[in-house]
Amino acid sequence: MSAVLPSSIDPRRALREGGRLDGRWPAAQCGRLAAAVERVLDDIGLSLTLNARGRAIALGGRITARVELICQRCLARFEWRIDDELDLIVYPDGAPAREEEGDVLELDDEGRIATGAWLEDEVLLRLPLIARHAEAAACDPGMIGLADRLRAEAEAARAAANPFAVLARGGGRNDDV
Ligand SMILES: [Zn+2]
Repeated sequence: MSAVLPSSIDPRRALREGGRLDGRWPAAQCGRLAAAVERVLDDIGLSLTLNARGRAIALGGRITARVELICQRCLARFEWRIDDELDLIVYPDGAPAREEEGDVLELDDEGRIATGAWLEDEVLLRLPLIARHAEAAACDPGMIGLADRLRAEAEAARAAANPFAVLARGGGRNDDV
C-alpha cells in the first residue's frame, strides 16, 4: 500500500527532490466528498510528475478514486470509479505576466498545495451530473422509473393541494431548464 500524502505539498521542494509524488489521501479525511456521495469506498490515489516550465511548475499524472452513488433511474447503489489524467500548472512565485497553457491550481500564501482540499475538488469534478448505471441493463428492472414516478406523484400531490400553482408558473414555460 502506498504512503499517505503530506497534508500540504511544496511543489518547488517536490521538484527539487526528484519531481515525483505518489501516495494516497485517506478516505476518512474526505468529509466534503463523503457529503456529496453515498459512500467513499477507497482512499484517493495520486501519481504525479512535476516539471519546470518557465516560471511555472507543471503537474501531470493520474488520480484514482472509488465512491458509491445512488442510481437515479433505479435507486440502487453502484460503484463509480475514477482513474483519470491530471494536467495542471502552479506558479510558486505568484501570478506571472504571461501565463503558460493549462489549468492553474491556486497555491496558499506559503506557495503550497493543500492536498486534501485539492484532491477532493478533483474527485468532485469527476462525479457524474446525474448518477446512474452506465448501461440501462444494469438497472434493477423492477425499480426503473420509480424515482421518476415518485417525483411525478409528489408533483401531482402539490398540484392537487394548490391547483393554481401550476397556472401561476406561466402557461407552458419551463422554468426548470
Ligand atoms: Zn440503475
